[in-house]
Amino acid sequence: MSLVELAKTVAPAGLAAAPATPALAMGVVTEVQRFSVHDGPGIRTTVFLKGCNLRCLWCHNPETIGLRPQLAYLAANCVGCAACVEACPSGAITWQAGRPVTDFARCGDCFACVEACFAGARVRIGRAVAPEALLAEIMADKPYYGDDGGVTFSGGEPLIQRGFVAQMVELCRREGIHCAVETALAFPWGSIKAVLASLDLVMFDVKAMDEALHRRVTGRSNKQVLANARRLAEAGIPAIVRTPVIPGVNEQEVVAIAEFVATLDNVTAHELLPYNPFAEEKFTRLGLPFAVAGLKAPAASRMRELVDLARAAGSPARRMED
Ligand code: SF4
Ligand code: SF4
Repeated sequence: MSLVELAKTVAPAGLAAAPATPALAMGVVTEVQRFSVHDGPGIRTTVFLKGCNLRCLWCHNPETIGLRPQLAYLAANCVGCAACVEACPSGAITWQAGRPVTDFARCGDCFACVEACFAGARVRIGRAVAPEALLAEIMADKPYYGDDGGVTFSGGEPLIQRGFVAQMVELCRREGIHCAVETALAFPWGSIKAVLASLDLVMFDVKAMDEALHRRVTGRSNKQVLANARRLAEAGIPAIVRTPVIPGVNEQEVVAIAEFVATLDNVTAHELLPYNPFAEEKFTRLGLPFAVAGLKAPAASRMRELVDLARAAGSPARRMED
């Protein structure tokens, strides 16, 4: 199976056609992470939104790929009571070799098994939330933000729900909260420029300069990403660039990416993020295939070398802590 075919299998059925939402009353989030120190300046609240229009083979947050709430199975918590088999109306769970086996392709995400499982082995990933309710969660953290902190909208690709993000930014800005977003910028510029212009900081990924490679390992061309990065610079919107370092996949792209970043005078930092193998377990829990199983994290010495190479190429590179 080719990498592109593998990338397609990572996408839950129907998601590829999921529309970007220009105006949503409600958002769908997986997690509101408090006291985050890796998602922008200072102490922040990071809101992870569901939905993504890329299919990176190494995805660190596969639970945010699908737009809708979905089921996850945590085998370590299972006590083998078989209550989920009885509860499932779709016949998606069968008892095999002393344990429940889930056929995720048959799962209708009704969450009856989650209700039935008292061991916490079946969990619902994702919840709908109204803007005012999410603002209340964020406001609880505001006393800890200090001068630099604030809120970061992440994912997945938060701009899939850009109508909701725009509402949240408006509410947060009224409260004097610094707002940032983590995005891949893979949209037509006209559809995202308004929300980007409303933000204090845009953190965006550049994963590869080679278009064919980018398409192979993310499922999409990088043309919009690079064009939008230049437009962000022309608009003078403060930005941080992020590059995940995936051994054997895009390491060789780091210098070319750094040379590109060096041409963007709105970029204050170029963060290199080492691949983290922990995502493999997340794919298993969601019943999704993991295309880079067994891949190891890059050595610390290799990360130092890449940071030095990127700095020599002119970007303000630093290692982002994993
Ligand atoms: S209900 Fe929960 S604990 Fe019981 S068999 Fe199913 S997953 Fe395991
Ligand atoms: S969420 Fe899926 S596996 Fe669980 S009861 Fe519903 S259809 Fe069955």
